[in-house]
Amino acid sequence: MGLVSAKEMLEKARKEGYAVGQFNINNLEWTKAVLSAAEENKSPVILGVSEGAGKYMVGYNTVVAMVKGMIETLNITVPVALHLDHGSYEGALACIEAGFTSVMFDGSHYPIEENIQKTKDIVKHATERGISVEAEVGSIGGEEDGVTGTGEVADPKECKMIADLGITMLAAGIGNIHGKYPENWQGLNMAVLKEIGETTNEIPLVLHGGTGIPDVMVREAISYGVSKINVNTECQLVFAAATRKYIEEGLDLKGKGFDPRKLLKPGYDAIIKVVKEKMDLFESSFKA
Ligand SMILES: [Zn+2]
Repeated sequence: MGLVSAKEMLEKARKEGYAVGQFNINNLEWTKAVLSAAEENKSPVILGVSEGAGKYMVGYNTVVAMVKGMIETLNITVPVALHLDHGSYEGALACIEAGFTSVMFDGSHYPIEENIQKTKDIVKHATERGISVEAEVGSIGGEEDGVTGTGEVADPKECKMIADLGITMLAAGIGNIHGKYPENWQGLNMAVLKEIGETTNEIPLVLHGGTGIPDVMVREAISYGVSKINVNTECQLVFAAATRKYIEEGLDLKGKGFDPRKLLKPGYDAIIKVVKEKMDLFESSFKA
């Protein structure tokens, strides 16, 4: 099927009551693992690229070329969207030019009027090319500002204002946090999520910080309109743990165990396993 916008896959997910995973990629192994898992599970998938990861992978053009090449050579038949994660205004425009099929413009740190203006502008550029747009209201907490243990909670009225701009999907802070959740985390604010779902006209909602949210909470969030769930930290943790185990067991010192294709294989396999588990949890498996 090749690269597609995230619009159709997310609207279908919203209507049928499941969620599509966004898995962030960092390099060739990561990308191959996520694409292979999606194909094995016959699930639609969104490859997330942060601006930092884009730079690390030698720019957006390199990322587009790598993903396109893999889709072709691996014979990937499921719908794949290549999506900029937490983009700046300039970053979103650059990805639209480079051939991404979906962009997030994160204007949540601007005053709402400025967020609206900039989001509107990105929507105009993206829509001309059939590219989906994610916008954000109410910033999502991070480890560094997780002192109170909760992320910022979005105002449903502001969510409605942004949802009405012609965006494809909306990320709203509902107490979710990037990275690991602190011990005293109070959980997702389901009342606010429900209200946002009801006031934003069936637009697919996005849940960031998918690592460490209990499964029952994930399912409840999907029932209120969450159709895209971002997973990043969890893949990093299992990749690191599997690589550590390989080295600690001294396997890199045995025979040709130092070969990078062998050294990175356990981490690669660990990512595939997590991605497939998430697809089953989000119920996107066999929905491609
Ligand atoms: Zn995020």
